[in-house]
Amino acid sequence: MKKQQFASDNYAGICPEALAAMAEANSGHARSYGDDEWTSRAADSLRRLFDRDCEVFFVFNGTAANSLALASLCYSYNSVICATAAHVETDECGAPEFFSNGSKILAVPGENGKLTPQSIRAIATGRSDIHFPKPRAVTITQPNELGITYSIEEVQAISAVCRELGLKLHMDGARFANACASLGVSPAEASWKAGVDVLCFGGTKNGMATGEAIIFFDRSLATDFDYRCKQAGQLASKMRFLAAPWVGMIENGAWLKNAEHANACAKRLAARLEGLPYIARVYPVNANSVFLNAPTPILEGLHQRGWHFYTFIGGAARFMFAWDADPAEVDRLADDVIAEVKAFGK
Ligand SMILES: *Cc1c(COP(=O)(O)O)cnc(C)c1O
Repeated sequence: MKKQQFASDNYAGICPEALAAMAEANSGHARSYGDDEWTSRAADSLRRLFDRDCEVFFVFNGTAANSLALASLCYSYNSVICATAAHVETDECGAPEFFSNGSKILAVPGENGKLTPQSIRAIATGRSDIHFPKPRAVTITQPNELGITYSIEEVQAISAVCRELGLKLHMDGARFANACASLGVSPAEASWKAGVDVLCFGGTKNGMATGEAIIFFDRSLATDFDYRCKQAGQLASKMRFLAAPWVGMIENGAWLKNAEHANACAKRLAARLEGLPYIARVYPVNANSVFLNAPTPILEGLHQRGWHFYTFIGGAARFMFAWDADPAEVDRLADDVIAEVKAFGK
């Protein structure tokens, strides 16, 4: 088996619970395009998990989930407020603008890559003339691209300003499970109870082969969403294989167990590196990532020792842990960082 890498949580494979559910779904024939028992069971599992009678759709990836969800909230002349670090702004190749027929993304800088009620209010009320794209939605990432969670109080405060200003609140939850695990709250508390209107719940980084769930807590926002998915090439004809992993992972709690494990591995690395000279941890470790600043020779040394990692996200070396991260491999990474620090200090 190949050594593990911690460049991204999507380097990992499929977790056993998701794979077993896909294998179980792979018997006999089933109706196509989501008209099958696995799809209704998966949607019901999510409704139970969220304790809410919501509308649920399954798509292939997060870019599609975010883009289509935002497009359903906006007319083409609207705008979507997000943080400058947001995946919808930096990593979706203009898909939100494309699928909304031109709704403009308004990216707002903020500490730790977060939006605040104040920053939302400032941009949403700064212009109200006909020349500016009318703000219609706010999107926050939970945990965000820097591995930082919004507290429930922060989400509530953001949703309050959204309601006051007539904005819908979307949550990019590519790592939503990691946020629930980190905050110690239920999916309901982390989403609709805090005022989120639409959630994109990531399955891929949680341990599935592929697949994200789009959850509309306000069912009226989901009108004709099935057509939107179909037109975008996101309606799987063998939908049962997108749906079954959700059943497998929700019904036995793997969604939370996986996230807790990934978060614990990030904490493990951070703890091993605490207090080392030359190494600065850049952001709080709230979820499953650790960002490090270090002199170039140390980072190059780590590359030479075979570690892959990115430095273009968040402006630092990012290490990210998945459901299957092996604590012994995490320790091996820590040992290598420590060895490089010692070599650099000589
Ligand atoms: C990974 C990720 C997504 C989804 O990306 P896809 O590659 O389109 O599946 C969305 N948002 C965030 C914050 C992510 O990290």
